[in-house]
Amino acid sequence: MKREQTINRRNFLKIGLKAGGGALALSAIPIQLVAAEEVAESEPLAQAMGYKADAATVDTAKFPKRAGEAGANQFCHNCALFAGKDGDETAPCSIFQNRPVRGAGWCNAWVAKS
Ligand code: SF4
Repeated sequence: MKREQTINRRNFLKIGLKAGGGALALSAIPIQLVAAEEVAESEPLAQAMGYKADAATVDTAKFPKRAGEAGANQFCHNCALFAGKDGDETAPCSIFQNRPVRGAGWCNAWVAKS
């Protein structure tokens, strides 16, 4: 009887450790998926900021910051908030909670890299 209780306790601990490890592994998956979701132009914050994945499609009448010669040189890839290297197609942007934006994109929060 005592031996069974010891074995059961051991088995219980083993099962508990496996279940805990599995729960930790599962909890990591959604975080990675959320972090990888690229910003869509249709999102309310993207619309409010005038974000476009292709900067050439920005409505410069509505967002005159990107109008003219100086504005035409503004892209996510040369914005201070683009957390990527030269040539990266996408990189996290802090305006969008570090979700990826297009290097060829633009939004009204653009700030020149120093
Ligand atoms: S803040 Fe900069 S990197 Fe982020 S979306 Fe706007 S222009 Fe692009």
